Amino acid sequence: MRPTYVKINLSQLQRNLGAIRAHVAPAKVLAVVKANAYGHGVDGVVPFLEPFADYLGVALVEEGIYLRELGIKKPILVMGGTLAEQLPAFLEHDLTLTASSLDLLRAAEQLAESAGKRLRTHLKIDTGMERVGVRDTDAKPFIETSLACRHIEVEGIYTHLANSEVPDLIHARLQLERFQSVLALYDKFGAPTPALRHMCNSGGILQLPEGHFDMVRPGIMLYGYYPGEDVQRTVEVKPALTWHSRVVYSKITPPGRPVSYGSLWQAEVPTRLVTVPCGYDDGYFRNMTNRARVVIGGKSYPQVGRICMDQFMVDVGNDDVQVGDEVILLGQGISSDDFALWAGTNNYEPLTNISARVPRVFVTE
Ligand SMILES: *Cc1c(COP(=O)(O)O)cnc(C)c1O
Repeated sequence: MRPTYVKINLSQLQRNLGAIRAHVAPAKVLAVVKANAYGHGVDGVVPFLEPFADYLGVALVEEGIYLRELGIKKPILVMGGTLAEQLPAFLEHDLTLTASSLDLLRAAEQLAESAGKRLRTHLKIDTGMERVGVRDTDAKPFIETSLACRHIEVEGIYTHLANSEVPDLIHARLQLERFQSVLALYDKFGAPTPALRHMCNSGGILQLPEGHFDMVRPGIMLYGYYPGEDVQRTVEVKPALTWHSRVVYSKITPPGRPVSYGSLWQAEVPTRLVTVPCGYDDGYFRNMTNRARVVIGGKSYPQVGRICMDQFMVDVGNDDVQVGDEVILLGQGISSDDFALWAGTNNYEPLTNISARVPRVFVTE
């Protein structure tokens, strides 16, 4: 196996899921496993987590099909926007459709009717994200149509929060109010509300208990990270992923010999420079150049010189670091929050960015 790999502690994912479940009970938990389980690797993560989740959530229909091919049996909600031409896959692979427009709902009804099957859907209400979904203000005809669709099983209705991880919850509460007013329409129609009403992502789970309804949709929290720096940490979760590599080259570099592309760094005194076989193709962001740190032998060292596609260099000073020594890129005090700071992004992207070239090793403890 490659010396560069990520290790995923499945037991920690299970503990995170358990902590979330305890916090939201009796609400159900839809485990969000889109984007290759936030980079952790669906092949190992989803079969392990399946028994502990009520529902699974992905962004793309292709991700749902992949999970079915892995042998996953739990219900799977495809949360992203879908084209009408992708609808047959929902019937074929028993996936739950997010009905995000009147047109898509009608196309789904037509397809299900001609196939002589029922298509399971969750209606998506846009209460303030402006991404996909029918606006709360247009919900009446949407719900009326859904009630008339004989081949659609409306199992759920949901919305998505745009600002749930910040201290100021004014927008989140406005979205909650709008969602509640849409739910109230069912009473007017004398129709039962769908069994699964849901709105909360990680931020909502932590900060908006009134929004837990029948189910919640944790993503980043499941993987042990908090969705914002100032979010209330009402549930304790811990990261499950560590990123490892090994030194493949070690030498003393003198002053006057700049290091790597663009000659962005050089030593001031002779110093030991080690090379790590990991680069931006692996998802180690190029724009962390001269900012990132790694841990070798329990000690933190600076990354120096431009990060290349497949390798980068580390200044270990006078320490005796040699070829074969283990290098920790993430873990042992370095978190995705640090990557976020170095790369100018959020703590989600460093995880989802870890590329397919990096082997995933799954352990339990
Ligand atoms: C990604 C996603 C989530 C999970 O969000 P986190 O902030 O990672 O918890 C929940 N719901 C929907 C619709 C999503 O797209």
